[in-house]
Amino acid sequence: MVDEQLVPRGIRDRRVLSAMSRVPRERFVPEHMVAYAYSDCALPIGEEQTISQPFIVAMMAQSAELSADDRVLEIGTGSGYGAAVLAELAGDVYSIERNTILARQSRERLQRLGYAHVHLRCGDGTKGWPDAAPFDAIIVTAGGPEVPESLREQLAIGGRLLIPVGRSPRHQSLRRVRRVSTDDYRNEGLGNVVFVPLIGEQGWHEEES
Ligand code: SAH
Repeated sequence: MVDEQLVPRGIRDRRVLSAMSRVPRERFVPEHMVAYAYSDCALPIGEEQTISQPFIVAMMAQSAELSADDRVLEIGTGSGYGAAVLAELAGDVYSIERNTILARQSRERLQRLGYAHVHLRCGDGTKGWPDAAPFDAIIVTAGGPEVPESLREQLAIGGRLLIPVGRSPRHQSLRRVRRVSTDDYRNEGLGNVVFVPLIGEQGWHEEES
């Protein structure tokens, strides 16, 4: 996976490549999907949700420019795979999942695999995690119609927010928003992506998605 999918597509950050080689992806997919765990694609994890394609996980982690003591927030825990990769790369990791079944499964899984220090919460991640803010990086693994104001506000100065944004719930452009000062944000496009919809107060409404 690392040699064939990540390196040739421009993942150069050694810490990211090493984290991707350490986290056992087969432990984050349903049993009938284990044979495909290292395939170059997203896979279903139940509840109509997916574990992201390995390249996308690595690309978002690399684009977040993480340091070992960074405080990171992930929106969309899903299988818990992304949270585990982030935990290998950063300091305190917080992750929010809205679906109660996936939230319970990923909590148990992360505990079993020794990632018990990842802070998990079940709820609407578009509002962020104000008590734990500010964050050096925020990674949103579902696509919204715009950048949620709460998440921008919870970025530290110098912090990076990665979020898929698009007018349709299933086709987005990956944005990197960098908070350069209290009131000043820089916004870059990193390419077109396909994520499941971000559903919540500052995302899509359930019926739109
Ligand atoms: N990072 C995950 C990818 C999961 S897919 C992994 O590595 O497996 C995106 C997840 O975002 C889904 O599980 C979906 O239920 C969740 N989600 C969608 N809207 C959300 C919201 N407002 N708050 C928290 N989670 C949300």
